[in-house]
Amino acid sequence: MIPFNKPYITGTEIDYLRQVLQEGKLSGNGLFTKKCQTYFETRFEISKSLLTTSCTDSLEMTAILSGICPGDEVIMPSYTFVSTALAFVRQGAVIRFIDSCDDHPNMDIEQIEPLINSKTKAIVPVHYAGVACDMDRINQIGKKYGILIIEDAAQAIDSYYNGKALGSLGDFGCFSFHDTKNIQCGEGGLLAINNEVYNDRAEIIWEKGTNRSAFFRGQIDKYGWVDTGSSFLPSELTAAFLLAQLESLELIQKKRKILWQTYDSNLSDLVKREWFTIPSIPDYATNNAHSFFIVCNSPKERTELIHYLREHNIAAAFHYQSLHQSVYYKDKHDSRILPNSDKFTNCLLRLPLYNDLGEVEINTICSIVYDFFKLIQKY
Ligand SMILES: *Cc1c(COP(=O)(O)O)cnc(C)c1O
Repeated sequence: MIPFNKPYITGTEIDYLRQVLQEGKLSGNGLFTKKCQTYFETRFEISKSLLTTSCTDSLEMTAILSGICPGDEVIMPSYTFVSTALAFVRQGAVIRFIDSCDDHPNMDIEQIEPLINSKTKAIVPVHYAGVACDMDRINQIGKKYGILIIEDAAQAIDSYYNGKALGSLGDFGCFSFHDTKNIQCGEGGLLAINNEVYNDRAEIIWEKGTNRSAFFRGQIDKYGWVDTGSSFLPSELTAAFLLAQLESLELIQKKRKILWQTYDSNLSDLVKREWFTIPSIPDYATNNAHSFFIVCNSPKERTELIHYLREHNIAAAFHYQSLHQSVYYKDKHDSRILPNSDKFTNCLLRLPLYNDLGEVEINTICSIVYDFFKLIQKY
């Protein structure tokens, strides 16, 4: 069986984990946490970052920092992971979901401004598959109305918008190191704070509402409870594992991009024949090879293709039920229909992509995809 995903282990994780055990400092905000944060800050030009236990946690921190109150509104795409919305719903926000673009799951920026009103507090662009949303335009809208921009950069490590790292462009950027992402530590995340107004409060919220970080820096002589917050910081074990991964970023990315290109060159002929589409990448965006996906011409074809691949021992995956159609939110959504989001929900298919996958296996997967479309003889 070719699995859909297989978390990659670089081999140096174990050495760093051993170091943590030897040093005996296992709780968070230690040496390895600082090294991961410094890595991010220097490599991706982020002024302040905090390691978290998940991207969900990073998003929750931004919801607190934004001062979202019950009834406030947040604009985001419907085609995204639950956490993007959940983090704000927990603060009582009303989510105004917008549609995806016709030719890409990223949100259609034209739909943002008509939804803005006095209750709008934040816009959350999601860089789907690591492909940038048009951040200059989104930031302009944010400035014009005084609304915060929070990038869901969960899939977007080492991807760029006009040369600038995703996650470094909005007021906040939220990354994930879940084991399905390019760089992983099982469960983990990072909050990038690009608007320094929030630096101090972010640290307090991160450390259970205490000013413990300032205390450790010697800025105050005792620490205590000063704000709301939670335990958003991971242990040093997680950070040590993550540092090993970050230090292999270039190797990991190089391999993923080769695999992505192999899919692309194998399937481009079938795309020309319009058997399915592969979303285009805008000129301002890069491709970090987070995911290789095709969009089938009908839900039926996608279902049949998944089964056909499975019969041939290949696990392909689809994801994201439009959140405006979800059990939890459909009654709270207004009446707008979001057809592109529904199209990607029903027709998008992700093919296996992970570091230990070989080019030979990709050739096999592509020829089975080809066989399927020949077999249904529709084309
Ligand atoms: C993976 C993902 C998340 C959640 O990340 P966790 O680290 O698992 O909390 C949020 N948003 C998007 C777009 C994701 O892909």
